[in-house]
Amino acid sequence: MDIEHIRKDFPILNQQVNGKPLVYFDNAATTQKPLPVIQRITDYYLHENSNVHRGVHHLSLVATEAYEKARSFVANYINAEDSKEIIFTRGTTESVNLLATVLSPWIQAGDEIVISGMEHHSNLVPWQQLCERNKARLKVLPVDLDGTIDLNFLKKMLTPQVKLLAITHISNVLGTINPVKEIVRIAHEQGVPVLLDGAQGIAHAKVDVQDIGADFYAFSGHKIYAPMGIGILYGRFTWLRRLPPYQFGGEMIDKVSFEKTTFNELPYKYEAGTPNVAGALGLEAALRYVEEIGLDNIFDHEDKLLQYATKKLQDIEGMRIFGHAKDKAAVISFLINGVHPYDLGMLLDQMGIAVRTGHHCAEPLMDFYGIQGTVRSSFGMYNTMEEIDVFADAVEKAVQMLR
Ligand code: PLP
Repeated sequence: MDIEHIRKDFPILNQQVNGKPLVYFDNAATTQKPLPVIQRITDYYLHENSNVHRGVHHLSLVATEAYEKARSFVANYINAEDSKEIIFTRGTTESVNLLATVLSPWIQAGDEIVISGMEHHSNLVPWQQLCERNKARLKVLPVDLDGTIDLNFLKKMLTPQVKLLAITHISNVLGTINPVKEIVRIAHEQGVPVLLDGAQGIAHAKVDVQDIGADFYAFSGHKIYAPMGIGILYGRFTWLRRLPPYQFGGEMIDKVSFEKTTFNELPYKYEAGTPNVAGALGLEAALRYVEEIGLDNIFDHEDKLLQYATKKLQDIEGMRIFGHAKDKAAVISFLINGVHPYDLGMLLDQMGIAVRTGHHCAEPLMDFYGIQGTVRSSFGMYNTMEEIDVFADAVEKAVQMLR
């Protein structure tokens, strides 16, 4: 992989922050966008902008065709059986909320929903609120200290009361790549459907929804070099066909009278109102870009960065890294004895290095480790070994100043 060549596609990386070359290690929060993605959005607004599915005029037909092509591209990318299974949303958060809303009639008093202890708030709070409303129970599959889950324990938790398992593909804090295919197999043996939170999974793993077997898979474009404000809920046709609509309004209807409304077919039933067409086209461009570079090349490069950074950080006195799964994505959360993560994050910023500090929207996981937050460095395809050297030196320097 020619990183220098790739970096030319990400002009934002070529800037100084606080007088130092920017080192962008906050990719788990959001990735930067390559020129082909920016160009696709620009082209859309320069030449194709129109509302979709509504007009007979030229631009509307062009925009509609491009939007539906983007849907088909996403379907192929994650190997969905049918593009009707691809719902455009604003992102993972909206995808999960959509599902939590439309599954509500299926969740009765006394039912149970299982999540894991490493969930992002986005895949926790919607289920907790649904359980509260419907007098159901939220059960939490514990995380081991090394940041993994115990599949035998999962089996025991999947009692007949469990109506859904909602679990992350990859932890945004620990980097743990959960064995999702096995998890789905275990859940299905008990008749439990599965939602996978793929916010990180889409960027750091090959996602083949048919092979994994998940009933639902949610992700955000912006974690995989696409624009913000666009995401996907994949749902098996047999599920989405049965579930009720989410929001009501234009586009999602079939026939409307003052007495009664019937609803449109999939996927439009779940896309009320004007969608983010430019976002969908940007997502297609991003997935094409990733495919062109090659998923294996990207994962291989990210893994080298992860191994190298882990080794370098471990040499720093007082270092505590959270998450030691054998299968781990390029995310390192850490603390250093006697150093507040926020102070470290601020000092690193002074040196041009962008990392995330805090609870990473996973407060219960922080409680489990008995900490308030961590520093998190997370890598993308454009990061380099040299940047890791700069980062490790900067951490050492900052620690000396803070101690
Ligand atoms: N789930 C995980 C694992 C995440 O990392 C994130 C974002 O950080 C989300 C869900 C929420 O994604 P979004 O804010 O794009 O909806």
